[in-house]
Amino acid sequence: MINKKKFYINGKWVDPSKPNDFQVINPSNEEIFAIISLGYKEDTDLAVKSAKKAFVTWKETSKEERINLLEKLLEIYKKRFKEMAEAISMEMGAPIEWSTNVQTSSGQSHLEDFISRLKEFNFEKKFNEKSNNHIRYEPIGVCGLITPWNWPINQIALKVVPALATGCTMILKPSEIAPISGVLFAEMIDEAGFPPGVFNLVNGDGEGVGTQISSHSDIDMVSFTGSTRAGKLISKNAANTIKRVCLELGGKGANIVFADSYSNAVRDGIRNVMSNSGQSCDAPTRMLVEKSIYQKAIEEAVDEANKIKVDLASKKGDHIGPVVSKVQYDKIINLIKSGINEGATLATGGPELPNNLNKGYFIKPTIFSNVTNDMEISKKEIFGPVLSIIPFETEDEAIKITNDTEYGLGNYLQTEDHTKAKRVAKKLRSGTVYINGNGADSGTPFGGYRQSGNGREGGVWGLEEFLEVKTITGWN
Ligand code: NAD
Repeated sequence: MINKKKFYINGKWVDPSKPNDFQVINPSNEEIFAIISLGYKEDTDLAVKSAKKAFVTWKETSKEERINLLEKLLEIYKKRFKEMAEAISMEMGAPIEWSTNVQTSSGQSHLEDFISRLKEFNFEKKFNEKSNNHIRYEPIGVCGLITPWNWPINQIALKVVPALATGCTMILKPSEIAPISGVLFAEMIDEAGFPPGVFNLVNGDGEGVGTQISSHSDIDMVSFTGSTRAGKLISKNAANTIKRVCLELGGKGANIVFADSYSNAVRDGIRNVMSNSGQSCDAPTRMLVEKSIYQKAIEEAVDEANKIKVDLASKKGDHIGPVVSKVQYDKIINLIKSGINEGATLATGGPELPNNLNKGYFIKPTIFSNVTNDMEISKKEIFGPVLSIIPFETEDEAIKITNDTEYGLGNYLQTEDHTKAKRVAKKLRSGTVYINGNGADSGTPFGGYRQSGNGREGGVWGLEEFLEVKTITGWN
């Protein structure tokens, strides 16, 4: 049994103020594999106090000092890469190869990219040549960082690294469902030698440490990734202290497949939505297919989904693992049942366990056809390996259906007509539009419109989120 009950506060591993054990479950076998503690207000307050004290000197450090420490952290991350991949695989069920090559590498690539951006970033600049006004970027202060379980180290790196890079101090609260990767990352920060209090880790749940962070009067900014439900509560709790609130929330992305798409567009779309067992905020879970190729697309989609194996996270090979928890499992199964009850056609998959498994939170890749955009399965973020295929007739109709959602994170479109692709991309209301399977480069901004959030993470935009901008006049 892994014991990670301590918190990291003021440069030391400390016991919680009162014992409050919490069991971490491996979703492949439903067994407890680690114990953490959930913090109380006393623990959060202690961490905030140490971050506040450390800010006084950390904000004065030079860019070079911070680059040196981040480079050390990168080396340690590479050294403990395998341990990180194993932790992520166990805590949230990502198959070990996916956990290694995609989940864990995302942490490394964010570290590398932020180090490069920091090297180029100018914290001071002249307003313009004729003016004696001077512009300075200054760290915002003490930050509360709250992260989810689905891409655990990706989300942690997208917050902790730019906060460190810009001279902020922080309290990280990883998801209590998948907290081990966060504890490992804290061990790496400790080994790298960041000054005490700059980085603190307090484990806890949303009602406890999460709420204490969002309402704390000595925290200047909350950066949150997670559900839209929690994002709303955090905004309300933060309102009394007017802290900056950066939100990266849910999504219900569309993948528009025009009749003139490249030949593998439907199959690639299936692989995309099913990867990470459908637990990605920008998963394209509504496939909109032009009517003339609708039947053919359904056949291809079913064939591709049936090729995807579902198996234990510890097994090597190209398969998907379980979903993260019993709560998520029940929610997804209920939504699959609601699709059937609302009259969508279950083209493949369904609510039963895959044949090869008799325990664990496993769900078969599931596809619904004959779906309309007003059904629950089209509106709700299912967060499992479930796709709805919706027909459309015209370009305008495809744009209308895509934008007819409360979310706006990532949308996808497939067509060989590049003029049409650009025209449609401009009309989609989302933070990212992926054309013809092209991925976003490291360092591009990531975030949402509407109820998908209000921030942008990654690259220069990710650094700027943690900065205040000051104008000083008379600067000769
Ligand atoms: P969640 O909102 O339940 O939990 C996320 C984190 O918030 C956890 O650490 C949790 O303890 C904490 N939390 C919960 N309630 C809180 C509250 N009232 N106050 C403060 N903190 C609270 O989300 P989840 O189930 O862990 O993650 C899945 C969600 O995250 C999905 O909706 C997904 O789309 C979203 N997500 C978004 C992005 C993005 O970049 N937009 C990336 C990954 C995941």
